[in-house]
Amino acid sequence: MNRNVRPVKVGNCVLDGKKIYIQSMLNIPAEDIEGSVKQAVELEKAGCEIVRAAIPNKEAVRLIPAIKEKINIPLVADIHFDYRLAVAAAEAGIDKIRINPGNIGSMDKVKAVVKACQSRGIPIRIGVNGGSLEKDLLEKYGRPTPEALVESALRHVRILEDCDFEDIVISLKSSDVPTMIGAYRLLAEKCDYPLHLGVTEAGTQRMGIIKSAVGIGSLLCDGIGETIRVSLTDDPVNEIYAAKDILKAIGKGRGVKIVSCPTCGRTKIDLISLAKKVEDAVKDIDKDITVAVMGCVVNGIGESGNADIGIAGGDGCAVLFAKGQMIRKVDEAEALSALLDEIEKI
Ligand code: SF4
Repeated sequence: MNRNVRPVKVGNCVLDGKKIYIQSMLNIPAEDIEGSVKQAVELEKAGCEIVRAAIPNKEAVRLIPAIKEKINIPLVADIHFDYRLAVAAAEAGIDKIRINPGNIGSMDKVKAVVKACQSRGIPIRIGVNGGSLEKDLLEKYGRPTPEALVESALRHVRILEDCDFEDIVISLKSSDVPTMIGAYRLLAEKCDYPLHLGVTEAGTQRMGIIKSAVGIGSLLCDGIGETIRVSLTDDPVNEIYAAKDILKAIGKGRGVKIVSCPTCGRTKIDLISLAKKVEDAVKDIDKDITVAVMGCVVNGIGESGNADIGIAGGDGCAVLFAKGQMIRKVDEAEALSALLDEIEKI
């Protein structure tokens, strides 16, 4: 069941729970404007819907107009501590700022950021991270527990609310998946701000995707989370593909869903390599269909009877089928191209 979410507008995206937005972050050095623009464009092309860039210093503010000129998705500035950078980013046309008001300093500085954002309709994301929890909370809870993360986030929230600012998005990241899940569940009960989900420092591709799928996927299945970021020690484009696959896995994503069998002693074609080739070939196809790649005709067609299109291996050949009905037989060597031709027709 979806919780009631207070809608927050980030550029042309509305975080209101009706759609889950995919995010990623540039990992090009901030001084490399050309490289950053190129990566932002690549991310948008891969399906990124909100992109974030670190703004570590005054010079990096130049990234904002340069990137915004070339992309059609909202740009978020990631800022640590320096309120002047947040104000400069707002003035430069940023769509959202990630900054923790409790780390800015005096209330005058917080108010300067709030004023710059409020007058332009720019939301602020509060991002609490298990690794950088306040000392007093660590002492109180002993470690970064879900309760500690939530208490920290609500402190930052209160500072903004005290300035009459409620255009807030919150993230509560931890590299420990059960802690992350527990923290978001707790926070979801305590406020109606949109939540940005992520497992931080999740790792390299394999483990990072597994941790993110478990953490983000569990929460999304609970109806918690309006935007997601899969963090990988990898090319951020792979974060987008992973995020899209997590959404597909929970039935909330667009694109081609693949079902494929694990193969067994009945398999007589090289199904493992065929399934991988199909997966790669369809990853950018924007059709809401299910494609089956099955090892044998006997069980394969029936087991994937709901697939819009599928292929089942025979002995040196393969059979194309749709909705459980055979279409035609092809040689094994033509299996991939024949399947892609059928997908094209849908
Ligand atoms: S579909 Fe056929 S080949 Fe694949 S696991 Fe089932 S029985 Fe084995």
